[in-house]
Amino acid sequence: MPTVITHSAFALAAGKAFSPEDVPKHFWLLSLFCSVIPDADVVAFSFGIPYGHFFGHRGFFHSVFLGLLLGMFVVSVFFRTTKIFSKRWWFYLVYFLLLAASHGIFDAFTNGGLGIALLSPFDDTRYFFPLRPILVSPIGITQFISRWGLMTLKSELLWIWVPSLIVVVVSRLRHYNYRKG
Ligand SMILES: [Zn+2]
Repeated sequence: MPTVITHSAFALAAGKAFSPEDVPKHFWLLSLFCSVIPDADVVAFSFGIPYGHFFGHRGFFHSVFLGLLLGMFVVSVFFRTTKIFSKRWWFYLVYFLLLAASHGIFDAFTNGGLGIALLSPFDDTRYFFPLRPILVSPIGITQFISRWGLMTLKSELLWIWVPSLIVVVVSRLRHYNYRKG
């Protein structure tokens, strides 16, 4: 996985770039939640569930389908007052779906561990993209505070933070010009 910090940073950048101005505060908390929650599947290891298992790390909980479930859950529980099928309602659904799905997609760009079951439960294949420039993050905290952890952050800065920042700046500039015009 890219680190929790990087998944979170991407979530905030995506929210900043694509959300309407007047989203409620919990929108931001839910953005963080959706982007990092797939990694809760690491608890599988402590239950003796193997890495390659359906419910193992990077399995079903890293799939696009789980993103859809999560999106539907968030919209129906936390945005109950938003009119169903309204433009805003669709925005929330698609945004949270993509955010949760982005987690597995980023992981598929990492250079270690098993692949990601992006199409689970329909296809259990563990996928990686052909290009994998992001260093896989160590799982334990002690390993994280190491050279490996630092190198990971460095590769994430380059491949996720910088592009995210560019998207935010471009979208803000467009927004600003739109208002001015
Ligand atoms: Zn992950």
